[in-house]
Amino acid sequence: MTNKRIVLASGNQGKLREFSQLFSQWSVDVVSQSQLNIDSVPETGTTFVENAIIKARHAAAESGLPALSDDSGLVVNALSGAPGIYSSRYAGENASDADNITKLLQVLEGNEQRAAHFQCVLVYMRSADDPVPLIAQGQWHGHIATCQSGSDGFGYDPVFICPEYHCSAAELTKDVKNTLSHRAKALELLTQQMANLFD
Ligand code: IMP
Repeated sequence: MTNKRIVLASGNQGKLREFSQLFSQWSVDVVSQSQLNIDSVPETGTTFVENAIIKARHAAAESGLPALSDDSGLVVNALSGAPGIYSSRYAGENASDADNITKLLQVLEGNEQRAAHFQCVLVYMRSADDPVPLIAQGQWHGHIATCQSGSDGFGYDPVFICPEYHCSAAELTKDVKNTLSHRAKALELLTQQMANLFD
C-alpha cells in the first residue's frame, strides 16, 4: 500500500525535513509545493492566521492534496505588533535579516518597553474548501536586546532575549531552541489535533 501524501505550502528545505519527520509516524509523505511546481501565492491577509490559510488553501487547490502551511514572525508590543506579518520584509521588499535587525534596533532606540514574542501559526486543510481547518498557534515570549549577540539561528534571533536562558536565541543550540520555540509549541498542539486524522 502506498503512503498518503500531503503538500507543504513552502519550499523551505528545513521545514520540509521537520514536517516529514513528524508525519512519518502516520505513514504520510510530505512533499513541498515547489516539488509539484506550485508557485507561492501572495500573502494578502492582515493576520498570521489569514496568511497561513491563504497558503494552505492555494497549495491544496493546486495539488488536489491535503495541505499544511505555516506563518511566523516577531511581534513587538511597543510597536503595536510590528513587524508582525511583515517580519521578513520589515526593512523593505528584499531586506536581509541584518537589514531588518538594524531597522528594529533603530526604531526601538531609547525605548525601554522591549517586550516581544515570536508567533507561529500552523494550518492543516484536508482540501481547498475544508470548512474546519486545523489551526495551531505557538508563542515564545521574551524581549528585544539593545545590541546583537550570538551567531546561530536566523531572522531576529540575535536580538531576541529568551527569559529561560537569559541570552539571545542566536546563542542557543538548535536542540535547545527547538524545545522552547513558537514553532515547537505550535507543532506540539497540531500533533495533538492530528492524532485521529490518519487512522
Ligand atoms: P517565515 O514564516 O518562516 O517566512 O518567517 C517569517 C519571518 O519571521 C522570518 O523571515 C524571520 O524574520 C521571522 N522569524 C520567524 N521565526 C523566527 C525565529 O525562530 N527566529 C528568528 N526570526 C524568526
